[in-house]
Amino acid sequence: MGPVDAALEPVPETTVCPGCGAVLVVVPGLASTHPGASPSCAGLFAVTVRGLREDADQDARTASLLQLASDAYDAQHLRDGDQAGAAVRLCLWLERDVDPSRAAGLADRVDAAAPRLTTRPHRWTTTVADLAADLDVVDLPALVRSWADAVWTDWAPAHPALRSAAGTALTS
Ligand SMILES: [Zn+2]
Repeated sequence: MGPVDAALEPVPETTVCPGCGAVLVVVPGLASTHPGASPSCAGLFAVTVRGLREDADQDARTASLLQLASDAYDAQHLRDGDQAGAAVRLCLWLERDVDPSRAAGLADRVDAAAPRLTTRPHRWTTTVADLAADLDVVDLPALVRSWADAVWTDWAPAHPALRSAAGTALTS
């Protein structure tokens, strides 16, 4: 195929995810399944963690990893004014060494303590698009952990408020 033919190939339509900024090809007919995320981004996340969802019922470590992945994704797609429960949970799992399997038990206290943040990170170190791109060469548990670490680090300006809320959730 010559350069002229290549230039005539249709360029796939893309969207920018309003949450994480990932630029992804529009998938016709895909409805958004996550507030604050583009349909393509939410769909890519669903595909990426599908294996974890299928195994989470049988395996506690997989369930914890799925919780960590879901909180990383949710914390990256908070809308302005949303309660930042997912970012508080990231603090619990990553800084306070709480096992993500305790998410359900802590839900009420996290909900009560989670702040509504008026600013969120403008750019993200790692998105689910990076995660999906690296899946061929790095295994999913390692990718999820480094992604969650990066999301938490990107939230640095809000760390004082999030740490305070995490402390309240643990001690209230
Ligand atoms: Zn996104």
